[in-house]
Amino acid sequence: MYGKTNYEYVWLDGSAEPSIRSKVRVERGAPDNAPLWGFDGSSTNQAEGIDSDCLLSPVKEYTNPFNNPNSGYPDNKLVLCEVLNPDGTAHNTNARNILNSNSSQHLKNQDWWFGFEQEYVLVDPITERPLGFPEEGYPKPQGDFYCGVGVENVAGREIVDMHLEYCWDAGIEITGTNAEVMIGQWEYQCFGHGLDAADDLWMSRYILYKIAEKYNTAVTLHPKPVLGDWNGSGMHTNFSTGKMRDNGGKKLIKDICNALDKNHKEHIKVYGSNNDLRLTGLHETQHIDEFTWGDSDRGASVRVPVHTINNNYNGYLEDRRPGSNADPYKIVGALVKTLQSCRV
Ligand code: MG
Repeated sequence: MYGKTNYEYVWLDGSAEPSIRSKVRVERGAPDNAPLWGFDGSSTNQAEGIDSDCLLSPVKEYTNPFNNPNSGYPDNKLVLCEVLNPDGTAHNTNARNILNSNSSQHLKNQDWWFGFEQEYVLVDPITERPLGFPEEGYPKPQGDFYCGVGVENVAGREIVDMHLEYCWDAGIEITGTNAEVMIGQWEYQCFGHGLDAADDLWMSRYILYKIAEKYNTAVTLHPKPVLGDWNGSGMHTNFSTGKMRDNGGKKLIKDICNALDKNHKEHIKVYGSNNDLRLTGLHETQHIDEFTWGDSDRGASVRVPVHTINNNYNGYLEDRRPGSNADPYKIVGALVKTLQSCRV
């Protein structure tokens, strides 16, 4: 019998809001790296049928946490890929490549740190209602669900707990999880440096979807999956640079927030679709057309966390505007571009 390695290629399709796609390649033995591969771009909104080949260029490998430890093949990998045209140039849907080529060494040298607070809602695929919602009508009003305990207050915890462990097995730094304000809604925090932070967030989403499949459960990243008096889902993005952490101060924080104010519209453009349904000025959000910032203010667009205030304004900021469905490559790109003028 030959040894083998499974490479699970993971990439983003050409939908306006990219969806994740994956397929498995089996290699005999244990090659050093996953090879360049191809796929049918006409089935992913990335090519026409008459000229449909696109390339998958592996950029990062993760330990596959879905490995069966008893399989005898412990080297299986999840492989994050960029999509290329047949001639090897970057495909126009390849936001990772755009970020990588536009941003300075500054991002690449991992001086930037990001903490994404990914919120999501687990959904019954038959009723299309969040887990924990009755078949008709609504659950009790919000109040007991946030960080809730007990079957009457949370739904889907087994998925959340497994996701945390599987991400760490893959080498992705999840720094916490919690039940959110609506039943069936959860959050995890994903921390990383530079471009890796965005890579890891995409792969953590992939792992979440795959675990949810095991439980016959859907995951929605829609920023307002239930209309009305129910919290939407966001992806608060905490960010800092070495200068902000070590040599910040009130003036630098103010300069950064002023620059974010000036470029508010450019940020909102890449902070996810349907975000207007979530950023209403209610449910701990600022209205999508307004920009405000403030110390410890959860109703602001950007919050200065108490940790930063207490450290003489050295530390990180929290951008509360991104929706749960935003592409982290685009969030990072917008922040890096806007903060250039602040010499961070
Ligand atoms: Mg939250």
